Amino acid sequence: MRPADQATGEDGNASEMTFTPKTSTGNRALMLEEKLIFEAGGGERTGVDLPAPDTSAPNHLDGLERTQSFGLPGLTEPETVRHYTRLSRQNYAIDLGLFPLGSCTMKHNPRLNEKVARLPGFADLHPLAPIPAIQGALAVIHELADWLKTLTGMPGIAMSPKAGAHGELCGLLAIRHKLEADGDVREVVLVPESAHGTNPATAAFCGYKVEGIPAADDGKIDVEAVIERLGPHVAGVMITNPNTCGLFERDFKKIADAVHDAGGYVYCDGANFNAIVGRVRPGDLGVDAMHINLHKTFSTPHGGGGPGSGPTVFSHSLAPFAPLPTVEKRDEKFVLIEEESAAQSAPESFGRMTAFHGQMGMFTRALAYILSHGADGLRQVSGDAVLSANYILRSLEDVLDAPFGPHGPCMHEALFSDEGFGGDLATLDLAKGLIDEGYHPMTVYFPLVVHGAMLVEPTETESKESLDEFITAFRSVAQRAKAGDETLRNAPYHAPRKRVDETGAARNPRLRWEAPEA
Ligand SMILES: *Cc1c(COP(=O)(O)O)cnc(C)c1O
Repeated sequence: MRPADQATGEDGNASEMTFTPKTSTGNRALMLEEKLIFEAGGGERTGVDLPAPDTSAPNHLDGLERTQSFGLPGLTEPETVRHYTRLSRQNYAIDLGLFPLGSCTMKHNPRLNEKVARLPGFADLHPLAPIPAIQGALAVIHELADWLKTLTGMPGIAMSPKAGAHGELCGLLAIRHKLEADGDVREVVLVPESAHGTNPATAAFCGYKVEGIPAADDGKIDVEAVIERLGPHVAGVMITNPNTCGLFERDFKKIADAVHDAGGYVYCDGANFNAIVGRVRPGDLGVDAMHINLHKTFSTPHGGGGPGSGPTVFSHSLAPFAPLPTVEKRDEKFVLIEEESAAQSAPESFGRMTAFHGQMGMFTRALAYILSHGADGLRQVSGDAVLSANYILRSLEDVLDAPFGPHGPCMHEALFSDEGFGGDLATLDLAKGLIDEGYHPMTVYFPLVVHGAMLVEPTETESKESLDEFITAFRSVAQRAKAGDETLRNAPYHAPRKRVDETGAARNPRLRWEAPEA
């Protein structure tokens, strides 16, 4: 029996399939159940020995002693270590298996990067250390900045933004300041309907009114629709290239020229740079500002919510408005241009976005990654990423609807939809079924322009064997979805948690310990 047949039960008998003997502990073999830390804690226990309080001291504050528990969990040191280690084992990570999350570029983080970032000369730096003492760190920032400017073909850069969304803000602030400096105040930013949510959010945060640009039938921007909307009120456009449907916007230059002719600026969301690095220079396409997610394209980790790093590159016209600080090389020494020196060196800078110089650990990792690949290696990265994604697209398009498949190859991510699933099974059911097969699900229900979207990004770091295993698993679940296999509705069967109320958890998070009823 193949594993897939076992999962459904050959005769489709759900009760046979769901039979798992119950254990008294709730543990499943060596996968251990875990309570919330507040449920596990025991009263006044602590992991450290504290001396008894000196109640005889003359200034003892009578009457202010604690009279009831304030609800710290109270675990011993081994209990604490075990709690977090058990939780970490329930997590899925890029170091455990293929992580097909589209739009996120979850690729391998070479250990070399980690080793370099942990060198004491980098890891132990203090952000307020005097400039002569941090020449090496400034050299890293300067050299990484040079690489990013070269790879994008853009003359200006801000290294301090701390994530992609922060880079978007940086880019739009530069556009806003440039327009204001020219006495040309504008109100509208155009954003395609397929854009990542951070794009319209950033434009709105910058005080712009957001107008949507519809997608054409082939998943790309409707060029005529953009041109029609241009005018003296449009500050600029924010376009992702390759776009969030995993397609290269071939008419980008045409759009950029039209935007410039109308006096606006072109922001490019560079989160998908992994697909074109070493092959396309956004500067050649007429981009004025673009962020680069070091934690996507340049292989620095982005688990657990951070840190990210979003250096932002600028065209000639926006470069003078880049935020402080910047690193410059003068007479073989590196200097940091900050507020004191800005009046002379960077008079048009719009100011500062963060307290210090940026994410130093991410800079060292990204530069280690870039130098270990070299220019030819980076070019191979994008080629292999695109090849992997097309291998997946063409291996699955006979069992899954691939809305843009017929229009040609994709870039670094393959887009499918739940069109044609049996019963009323949907994308979520396939995603949950993949968990049973041992895979983190792909990105689901994004981009919004495709109903029931599934965005699969394998990255260049997977071998053909690992892609084949993934395709086999994905195929089997897709076939079950197409056949209307009702058992998928309750997947995952083998995970410690099943279908959690994600919306409820996000809207009504319970983050505070509540005292048990007395
Ligand atoms: C990831 C991503 C962003 C946001 O980047 P963060 O680093 O998460 O802030 C913006 N746009 C696209 C297309 C992305 O994939």
